[in-house]
Amino acid sequence: MSAKVRFAPSPTGKLHVGNIRTALTNFLYTKGQGGQFVLRIDDTDLERSTKEYEDGIKADLDWLGLHWDETFRQSERFERYNAVAADLRAKGLLYPCYETEDELDRKRKLQRAQGKPPVYDRAALDLTDAQKATYEAEGRKPHWRFKLSGRTVTWTDLVRGETPIDTASLSDPILIREDGSYLYTLPSVIDDIDSGISAIIRGEDHVTNSGAQIEIFEAIAGHSPQLGHHPLLVGPDGGKLSKRLGTLSISGLREEGIEAMTILSLLAKIGTSDPVEPRLEIARLIEEFDLSKFSRAPARFDPEELMRLNARLLHETPYESVLPRLQALGADAGPDFWDAARPNLHRLEDAVGVLKIVEGPVTPVVEDADRDYIAAAAEALPAGELDAGSWSIWISELKARTGRKGRDLFMPLRLALTGDRHGPEMDKLIVLIGRERILQRLKG
Ligand code: GLU
Repeated sequence: MSAKVRFAPSPTGKLHVGNIRTALTNFLYTKGQGGQFVLRIDDTDLERSTKEYEDGIKADLDWLGLHWDETFRQSERFERYNAVAADLRAKGLLYPCYETEDELDRKRKLQRAQGKPPVYDRAALDLTDAQKATYEAEGRKPHWRFKLSGRTVTWTDLVRGETPIDTASLSDPILIREDGSYLYTLPSVIDDIDSGISAIIRGEDHVTNSGAQIEIFEAIAGHSPQLGHHPLLVGPDGGKLSKRLGTLSISGLREEGIEAMTILSLLAKIGTSDPVEPRLEIARLIEEFDLSKFSRAPARFDPEELMRLNARLLHETPYESVLPRLQALGADAGPDFWDAARPNLHRLEDAVGVLKIVEGPVTPVVEDADRDYIAAAAEALPAGELDAGSWSIWISELKARTGRKGRDLFMPLRLALTGDRHGPEMDKLIVLIGRERILQRLKG
Protein backbone atom coordinates (compact mmCIF):
# COMPACT_ATOMS: atom_id res chain seq x y z
CA MET A 1 0.00 0.00 0.00
CA SER A 2 1.38 3.41 -0.87
CA ALA A 3 1.70 6.04 1.82
CA LYS A 4 -1.20 8.37 2.48
CA VAL A 5 -1.32 10.64 5.49
CA ARG A 6 -3.43 13.50 6.65
CA PHE A 7 -3.11 16.76 8.52
CA ALA A 8 -6.34 17.43 10.38
CA PRO A 9 -6.56 20.90 11.90
CA SER A 10 -9.71 22.29 13.45
CA PRO A 11 -10.62 25.67 11.94
CA THR A 12 -11.07 27.22 15.36
CA GLY A 13 -7.88 29.26 15.37
CA LYS A 14 -4.73 30.11 13.46
CA LEU A 15 -2.05 27.55 12.69
CA HIS A 16 1.01 27.86 14.90
CA VAL A 17 4.44 26.31 14.87
CA GLY A 18 3.22 23.28 16.85
CA ASN A 19 0.52 22.47 14.26
CA ILE A 20 2.92 23.01 11.41
CA ARG A 21 5.48 20.68 12.87
CA THR A 22 2.84 17.93 12.74
CA ALA A 23 1.79 18.90 9.21
CA LEU A 24 5.40 19.00 8.05
CA THR A 25 6.27 15.66 9.64
CA ASN A 26 3.36 14.06 7.80
CA PHE A 27 4.26 15.81 4.55
CA LEU A 28 7.93 14.81 4.62
CA TYR A 29 7.08 11.26 5.64
CA THR A 30 4.64 10.69 2.78
CA LYS A 31 6.49 12.62 0.04
CA GLY A 32 9.66 10.66 0.78
CA GLN A 33 7.72 7.58 -0.31
CA GLY A 34 5.93 9.21 -3.22
CA GLY A 35 2.74 9.18 -1.16
CA GLN A 36 -0.19 11.53 -0.72
CA PHE A 37 -0.96 14.29 1.73
CA VAL A 38 -4.57 14.94 2.68
CA LEU A 39 -5.81 18.12 4.32
CA ARG A 40 -8.83 17.29 6.43
CA ILE A 41 -10.72 20.14 8.02
CA ASP A 42 -11.95 18.92 11.41
CA ASP A 43 -14.97 21.18 11.70
CA THR A 44 -17.43 18.99 13.60
CA ASP A 45 -17.60 21.76 16.20
CA LEU A 46 -19.89 23.91 14.10
CA GLU A 47 -20.07 26.70 16.64
CA ARG A 48 -16.36 27.34 16.96
CA SER A 49 -15.32 26.54 13.38
CA THR A 50 -15.20 29.44 10.92
CA LYS A 51 -14.60 29.88 7.21
CA GLU A 52 -12.02 32.59 7.96
CA TYR A 53 -9.88 30.19 9.99
CA GLU A 54 -10.26 27.51 7.32
CA ASP A 55 -9.14 29.96 4.63
CA GLY A 56 -6.27 31.06 6.85
CA ILE A 57 -5.13 27.46 7.35
CA LYS A 58 -5.13 26.87 3.60
CA ALA A 59 -3.27 30.13 2.91
CA ASP A 60 -0.61 29.25 5.49
CA LEU A 61 -0.05 25.75 4.10
CA ASP A 62 0.12 27.16 0.57
CA TRP A 63 2.63 29.80 1.58
CA LEU A 64 4.78 27.18 3.28
CA GLY A 65 4.65 24.97 0.18
CA LEU A 66 2.89 22.13 1.99
CA HIS A 67 0.52 21.43 -0.88
CA TRP A 68 -2.21 18.87 -0.33
CA ASP A 69 -3.39 16.26 -2.80
CA GLU A 70 -6.93 16.12 -1.42
CA THR A 71 -9.00 18.12 0.99
CA PHE A 72 -12.43 17.80 2.57
CA ARG A 73 -14.45 18.97 5.55
CA GLN A 74 -15.88 16.71 8.21
CA SER A 75 -19.04 18.82 8.24
CA GLU A 76 -19.83 17.40 4.77
CA ARG A 77 -19.91 13.85 6.07
CA PHE A 78 -22.44 13.68 8.89
CA GLU A 79 -24.62 11.19 6.99
CA ARG A 80 -21.76 8.77 6.78
CA TYR A 81 -20.96 9.20 10.49
CA ASN A 82 -24.62 8.59 11.34
CA ALA A 83 -24.62 5.36 9.33
CA VAL A 84 -21.49 4.04 11.06
CA ALA A 85 -22.86 5.07 14.45
CA ALA A 86 -26.05 3.11 13.70
CA ASP A 87 -23.91 0.10 12.88
CA LEU A 88 -21.95 0.36 16.10
CA ARG A 89 -25.22 0.65 18.05
CA ALA A 90 -26.50 -2.49 16.36
CA LYS A 91 -23.32 -4.31 17.40
CA GLY A 92 -23.79 -3.16 21.01
CA LEU A 93 -20.53 -1.18 20.86
CA LEU A 94 -22.15 2.23 21.16
CA TYR A 95 -24.40 2.56 24.17
CA PRO A 96 -26.63 5.34 25.49
CA CYS A 97 -25.86 7.03 28.81
CA TYR A 98 -28.11 9.47 30.64
CA GLU A 99 -25.88 10.91 33.35
CA THR A 100 -25.70 14.67 33.50
CA GLU A 101 -22.35 16.49 33.76
CA ASP A 102 -23.02 17.03 37.47
CA GLU A 103 -23.74 13.38 38.08
CA LEU A 104 -20.58 12.35 36.29
CA ASP A 105 -18.64 14.89 38.27
CA ARG A 106 -19.96 13.53 41.54
CA LYS A 107 -19.04 10.00 40.53
CA ARG A 108 -15.50 11.06 39.74
CA LYS A 109 -15.13 12.91 43.04
CA LEU A 110 -16.31 9.86 44.93
CA GLN A 111 -13.89 7.61 43.06
CA ARG A 112 -11.02 9.94 43.80
CA ALA A 113 -11.98 10.09 47.47
CA GLN A 114 -11.82 6.31 47.51
CA GLY A 115 -8.41 6.38 45.88
CA LYS A 116 -9.75 4.92 42.63
CA PRO A 117 -9.03 6.22 39.13
CA PRO A 118 -11.92 8.33 37.80
CA VAL A 119 -12.96 5.84 35.12
CA TYR A 120 -16.60 5.74 34.00
CA ASP A 121 -18.34 2.88 35.87
CA ARG A 122 -20.53 1.79 32.94
CA ALA A 123 -23.68 2.08 35.01
CA ALA A 124 -25.57 2.85 31.80
CA LEU A 125 -24.94 -0.65 30.51
CA ASP A 126 -27.20 -1.98 33.28
CA LEU A 127 -30.14 0.30 32.50
CA THR A 128 -33.35 -1.54 31.64
CA ASP A 129 -35.52 -0.42 28.76
CA ALA A 130 -38.05 0.86 31.29
CA GLN A 131 -35.40 3.01 33.03
CA LYS A 132 -34.29 4.41 29.70
CA ALA A 133 -37.90 5.18 28.82
CA THR A 134 -38.30 7.00 32.13
CA TYR A 135 -35.25 9.14 31.45
CA GLU A 136 -36.50 9.95 27.97
CA ALA A 137 -39.92 10.85 29.38
CA GLU A 138 -38.15 13.25 31.79
CA GLY A 139 -36.72 14.93 28.72
CA ARG A 140 -33.21 13.55 29.12
CA LYS A 141 -31.35 12.86 25.94
CA PRO A 142 -28.60 10.25 25.88
CA HIS A 143 -24.98 10.76 25.05
CA TRP A 144 -23.27 7.74 23.49
CA ARG A 145 -20.19 5.92 24.62
CA PHE A 146 -18.03 3.39 22.80
CA LYS A 147 -17.56 0.15 24.73
CA LEU A 148 -13.86 -0.53 25.10
CA SER A 149 -12.69 -4.13 25.38
CA GLY A 150 -10.87 -3.71 28.68
CA ARG A 151 -7.84 -5.37 27.12
CA THR A 152 -4.43 -3.87 26.53
CA VAL A 153 -4.03 -2.45 23.04
CA THR A 154 -0.47 -2.53 21.77
CA TRP A 155 0.93 -1.02 18.59
CA THR A 156 4.38 -0.44 17.14
CA ASP A 157 4.49 3.30 17.12
CA LEU A 158 6.48 4.83 14.26
CA VAL A 159 8.27 7.09 16.75
CA ARG A 160 7.90 5.48 20.18
CA GLY A 161 8.17 1.80 19.24
CA GLU A 162 6.08 -0.75 21.15
CA THR A 163 3.30 1.21 22.89
CA PRO A 164 0.74 -0.46 25.16
CA ILE A 165 -2.43 1.21 26.44
CA ASP A 166 -4.55 -0.61 28.98
CA THR A 167 -8.09 0.22 27.92
CA ALA A 168 -9.40 -0.90 31.32
CA SER A 169 -7.79 2.27 32.68
CA LEU A 170 -9.80 4.46 30.30
CA SER A 171 -13.39 5.65 30.46
CA ASP A 172 -15.44 4.44 27.53
CA PRO A 173 -15.09 7.47 25.25
CA ILE A 174 -18.14 9.61 24.52
CA LEU A 175 -18.52 9.66 20.73
CA ILE A 176 -21.84 11.54 20.44
CA ARG A 177 -23.09 14.30 22.70
CA GLU A 178 -26.65 14.76 24.00
CA ASP A 179 -27.46 17.16 21.18
CA GLY A 180 -26.40 14.56 18.59
CA SER A 181 -23.15 16.31 17.71
CA TYR A 182 -19.96 14.31 17.24
CA LEU A 183 -16.80 14.63 19.23
CA TYR A 184 -13.65 14.34 17.14
CA THR A 185 -12.93 10.68 17.99
CA LEU A 186 -15.35 8.79 15.74
CA PRO A 187 -15.40 11.03 12.63
CA SER A 188 -11.61 10.96 12.60
CA VAL A 189 -11.54 7.16 12.57
CA ILE A 190 -14.23 6.91 9.88
CA ASP A 191 -12.44 9.46 7.69
CA ASP A 192 -9.09 7.75 8.09
CA ILE A 193 -10.69 4.49 6.98
CA ASP A 194 -12.60 6.01 4.05
CA SER A 195 -9.61 8.07 2.85
CA GLY A 196 -7.34 5.03 2.96
CA ILE A 197 -4.92 6.66 5.38
CA SER A 198 -1.86 4.45 5.84
CA ALA A 199 -0.29 6.24 8.80
CA ILE A 200 -1.51 8.70 11.42
CA ILE A 201 1.31 10.87 12.66
CA ARG A 202 0.42 13.33 15.39
CA GLY A 203 1.49 14.71 18.73
CA GLU A 204 2.14 12.66 21.82
CA ASP A 205 -0.92 14.21 23.45
CA HIS A 206 -2.96 11.74 21.37
CA VAL A 207 -1.34 8.52 22.63
CA THR A 208 -4.13 7.59 25.05
CA ASN A 209 -6.68 8.56 22.48
CA SER A 210 -5.01 6.13 20.08
CA GLY A 211 -5.64 3.25 22.48
CA ALA A 212 -9.39 3.89 22.17
CA GLN A 213 -9.29 4.78 18.49
CA ILE A 214 -7.52 1.53 17.57
CA GLU A 215 -10.44 -0.38 19.08
CA ILE A 216 -12.87 1.75 17.07
CA PHE A 217 -10.83 1.15 13.90
CA GLU A 218 -10.95 -2.57 14.58
CA ALA A 219 -14.68 -2.50 15.21
CA ILE A 220 -15.34 -0.72 11.91
CA ALA A 221 -12.62 -1.91 9.54
CA GLY A 222 -10.90 -4.81 11.26
CA HIS A 223 -7.54 -3.04 11.49
CA SER A 224 -6.00 0.37 12.06
CA PRO A 225 -3.46 2.44 10.12
CA GLN A 226 0.07 2.70 11.46
CA LEU A 227 0.43 5.25 14.22
CA GLY A 228 3.24 7.58 15.16
CA HIS A 229 3.29 10.10 18.01
CA HIS A 230 5.98 12.73 18.09
CA PRO A 231 6.99 14.51 21.30
CA LEU A 232 5.52 18.00 21.67
CA LEU A 233 7.29 21.32 21.39
CA VAL A 234 8.55 23.06 24.50
CA GLY A 235 10.05 26.51 24.96
CA PRO A 236 13.80 27.22 24.91
CA ASP A 237 13.98 26.65 28.68
CA GLY A 238 12.15 23.33 28.43
CA GLY A 239 8.95 24.89 29.79
CA LYS A 240 5.49 24.73 28.26
CA LEU A 241 5.03 26.53 25.00
CA SER A 242 1.24 26.32 24.96
CA LYS A 243 0.67 29.84 26.30
CA ARG A 244 3.05 31.39 23.80
CA LEU A 245 1.75 29.49 20.78
CA GLY A 246 -0.84 32.21 20.23
CA THR A 247 1.98 34.61 19.43
CA LEU A 248 3.72 32.06 17.23
CA SER A 249 1.11 31.84 14.48
CA ILE A 250 2.39 31.17 10.99
CA SER A 251 0.73 34.30 9.63
CA GLY A 252 2.31 36.34 12.44
CA LEU A 253 5.78 34.97 11.70
CA ARG A 254 5.25 35.68 8.03
CA GLU A 255 4.36 39.28 8.84
CA GLU A 256 7.50 39.54 10.93
CA GLY A 257 9.52 38.66 7.85
CA ILE A 258 10.35 35.04 8.61
CA GLU A 259 10.82 33.05 5.40
CA ALA A 260 8.66 29.97 4.79
CA MET A 261 11.76 27.81 4.36
CA THR A 262 13.19 29.09 7.63
CA ILE A 263 10.14 27.84 9.48
CA LEU A 264 10.29 24.48 7.71
CA SER A 265 14.06 24.14 8.12
CA LEU A 266 13.76 24.61 11.87
CA LEU A 267 10.62 22.57 12.46
CA ALA A 268 11.92 19.64 10.41
CA LYS A 269 15.01 19.31 12.57
CA ILE A 270 14.31 20.29 16.16
CA GLY A 271 13.78 17.19 18.27
CA THR A 272 15.74 15.03 15.80
CA SER A 273 19.35 13.89 15.67
CA ASP A 274 20.04 16.14 12.64
CA PRO A 275 21.57 19.60 13.15
CA VAL A 276 19.42 22.61 12.25
CA GLU A 277 20.64 24.04 8.94
CA PRO A 278 18.99 26.48 6.54
CA ARG A 279 17.47 24.56 3.65
CA LEU A 280 16.26 26.37 0.57
CA GLU A 281 14.19 23.53 -0.85
CA ILE A 282 11.57 21.24 0.66
CA ALA A 283 13.03 18.47 -1.53
CA ARG A 284 16.18 18.58 0.60
CA LEU A 285 14.15 18.22 3.80
CA ILE A 286 12.34 15.26 2.26
CA GLU A 287 15.67 13.58 1.49
CA GLU A 288 16.94 14.13 5.00
CA PHE A 289 13.75 13.07 6.77
CA ASP A 290 13.58 9.85 8.74
CA LEU A 291 11.25 9.17 11.66
CA SER A 292 13.99 7.08 13.27
CA LYS A 293 15.92 10.34 13.80
CA PHE A 294 13.19 11.62 16.13
CA SER A 295 14.08 11.85 19.78
CA ARG A 296 11.73 10.70 22.52
CA ALA A 297 12.43 13.94 24.38
CA PRO A 298 10.41 17.11 23.71
CA ALA A 299 11.64 19.36 20.93
CA ARG A 300 12.85 22.78 22.04
CA PHE A 301 11.52 25.66 20.02
CA ASP A 302 13.36 28.94 20.39
CA PRO A 303 11.95 31.97 18.55
CA GLU A 304 15.41 33.53 18.62
CA GLU A 305 16.87 30.50 16.88
CA LEU A 306 14.21 31.06 14.22
CA MET A 307 15.39 34.67 13.77
CA ARG A 308 19.04 33.62 13.50
CA LEU A 309 18.19 30.87 11.05
CA ASN A 310 16.22 33.35 8.96
CA ALA A 311 19.36 35.46 8.57
CA ARG A 312 21.46 32.41 7.68
CA LEU A 313 18.89 31.31 5.13
CA LEU A 314 18.75 34.73 3.48
CA HIS A 315 22.55 34.77 3.26
CA GLU A 316 22.37 31.60 1.17
CA THR A 317 19.39 32.59 -0.94
CA PRO A 318 20.19 33.12 -4.62
CA TYR A 319 19.12 36.29 -6.40
CA GLU A 320 16.74 34.60 -8.83
CA SER A 321 14.61 33.12 -6.10
CA VAL A 322 14.00 36.45 -4.33
CA LEU A 323 13.82 38.65 -7.42
CA PRO A 324 10.00 38.99 -7.58
CA ARG A 325 9.83 39.82 -3.89
CA LEU A 326 12.71 42.30 -4.14
CA GLN A 327 10.88 43.95 -7.01
CA ALA A 328 7.70 44.11 -4.97
CA LEU A 329 9.65 45.80 -2.17
CA GLY A 330 11.18 48.22 -4.65
CA ALA A 331 14.58 46.89 -3.58
CA ASP A 332 15.86 45.22 -6.71
CA ALA A 333 19.17 46.67 -7.85
CA GLY A 334 20.58 43.64 -9.61
CA PRO A 335 22.53 40.53 -8.58
CA ASP A 336 25.59 42.44 -7.34
CA PHE A 337 23.42 44.46 -5.04
CA TRP A 338 21.84 41.26 -3.68
CA ASP A 339 25.27 39.71 -3.13
CA ALA A 340 26.38 42.77 -1.20
CA ALA A 341 23.16 43.10 0.77
CA ARG A 342 22.31 39.52 1.75
CA PRO A 343 25.05 38.87 4.35
CA ASN A 344 23.55 41.66 6.46
CA LEU A 345 19.88 40.85 6.21
CA HIS A 346 17.78 39.51 9.04
CA ARG A 347 14.61 39.89 7.02
CA LEU A 348 14.23 40.35 3.28
CA GLU A 349 12.70 43.75 3.91
CA ASP A 350 16.03 44.94 5.31
CA ALA A 351 17.18 45.08 1.67
CA VAL A 352 15.21 48.33 1.40
CA GLY A 353 17.52 49.89 3.97
CA VAL A 354 20.62 48.61 2.19
CA LEU A 355 19.41 50.08 -1.09
CA LYS A 356 18.96 53.40 0.65
CA ILE A 357 22.60 53.27 1.72
CA VAL A 358 23.55 52.74 -1.91
CA GLU A 359 21.24 55.26 -3.52
CA GLY A 360 21.01 57.75 -0.70
CA PRO A 361 20.15 60.14 0.63
CA VAL A 362 22.69 59.35 3.32
CA THR A 363 23.74 61.74 6.05
CA PRO A 364 27.53 61.29 6.23
CA VAL A 365 29.02 61.15 9.69
CA VAL A 366 32.49 62.69 9.96
CA GLU A 367 34.14 63.12 13.34
CA ASP A 368 36.19 66.31 13.73
CA ALA A 369 39.37 64.28 14.17
CA ASP A 370 38.78 62.61 10.82
CA ARG A 371 38.17 65.68 8.63
CA ASP A 372 41.65 65.70 7.09
CA TYR A 373 41.60 61.97 6.70
CA ILE A 374 38.31 62.06 4.80
CA ALA A 375 39.62 64.85 2.58
CA ALA A 376 42.71 62.70 1.86
CA ALA A 377 40.43 59.75 1.09
CA ALA A 378 38.53 61.75 -1.52
CA GLU A 379 41.86 62.48 -3.25
CA ALA A 380 43.11 58.91 -2.98
CA LEU A 381 40.03 57.26 -4.48
CA PRO A 382 41.34 55.00 -7.29
CA ALA A 383 40.77 56.43 -10.74
CA GLY A 384 38.37 54.97 -13.26
CA GLU A 385 35.39 52.75 -12.63
CA LEU A 386 35.39 51.10 -9.22
CA ASP A 387 35.50 47.33 -9.07
CA ALA A 388 35.96 44.49 -6.57
CA GLY A 389 39.63 45.34 -6.08
CA SER A 390 39.23 49.10 -5.63
CA TRP A 391 38.60 49.06 -1.88
CA SER A 392 41.88 47.36 -0.98
CA ILE A 393 43.84 49.61 -3.32
CA TRP A 394 42.18 52.64 -1.77
CA ILE A 395 42.84 51.47 1.80
CA SER A 396 46.50 50.60 1.09
CA GLU A 397 47.04 53.99 -0.45
CA LEU A 398 45.49 55.70 2.60
CA LYS A 399 47.58 53.59 4.93
CA ALA A 400 50.74 54.64 3.13
CA ARG A 401 49.69 58.31 3.08
CA THR A 402 48.43 58.64 6.65
CA GLY A 403 50.07 55.85 8.66
CA ARG A 404 46.63 54.87 9.99
CA LYS A 405 45.86 51.21 10.67
CA GLY A 406 42.89 48.86 11.11
CA ARG A 407 39.64 50.42 12.31
CA ASP A 408 41.04 53.94 12.04
CA LEU A 409 41.49 53.34 8.36
CA PHE A 410 38.09 52.02 7.41
CA MET A 411 35.59 53.11 10.08
CA PRO A 412 35.74 56.83 9.21
CA LEU A 413 35.10 55.87 5.60
CA ARG A 414 32.16 53.64 6.50
CA LEU A 415 30.68 56.44 8.63
CA ALA A 416 31.18 59.04 5.94
CA LEU A 417 29.79 56.86 3.16
CA THR A 418 26.90 55.16 4.95
CA GLY A 419 26.23 57.19 8.08
CA ASP A 420 26.37 53.94 10.08
CA ARG A 421 28.95 51.85 11.94
CA HIS A 422 27.50 48.60 10.59
CA GLY A 423 26.51 47.43 7.18
CA PRO A 424 27.52 45.46 4.12
CA GLU A 425 31.16 44.81 3.20
CA MET A 426 32.77 48.03 2.04
CA ASP A 427 34.52 46.44 -0.97
CA LYS A 428 31.15 45.53 -2.46
CA LEU A 429 29.37 48.60 -1.26
CA ILE A 430 31.68 51.18 -2.87
CA VAL A 431 31.21 49.51 -6.27
CA LEU A 432 27.44 49.90 -5.88
CA ILE A 433 27.57 53.44 -4.51
CA GLY A 434 29.85 54.52 -7.36
CA ARG A 435 32.44 57.24 -7.74
CA GLU A 436 30.12 60.21 -8.03
CA ARG A 437 28.10 59.54 -4.90
CA ILE A 438 31.26 58.58 -2.97
CA LEU A 439 32.89 61.91 -3.73
CA GLN A 440 29.69 63.77 -2.91
CA ARG A 441 29.46 62.08 0.48
CA LEU A 442 33.16 62.54 1.28
CA LYS A 443 33.04 66.17 0.36
CA GLY A 444 29.54 66.68 1.80
N1 GLU B 1 -8.32 17.79 14.81
C1 GLU B 1 -7.50 16.96 15.66
C2 GLU B 1 -6.56 17.84 16.46
O1 GLU B 1 -6.21 18.92 15.98
C3 GLU B 1 -6.72 15.98 14.83
C4 GLU B 1 -5.94 15.00 15.62
C5 GLU B 1 -5.47 13.87 14.74
O2 GLU B 1 -4.50 14.08 14.02
O3 GLU B 1 -6.09 12.81 14.74
O4 GLU B 1 -6.18 17.51 17.56
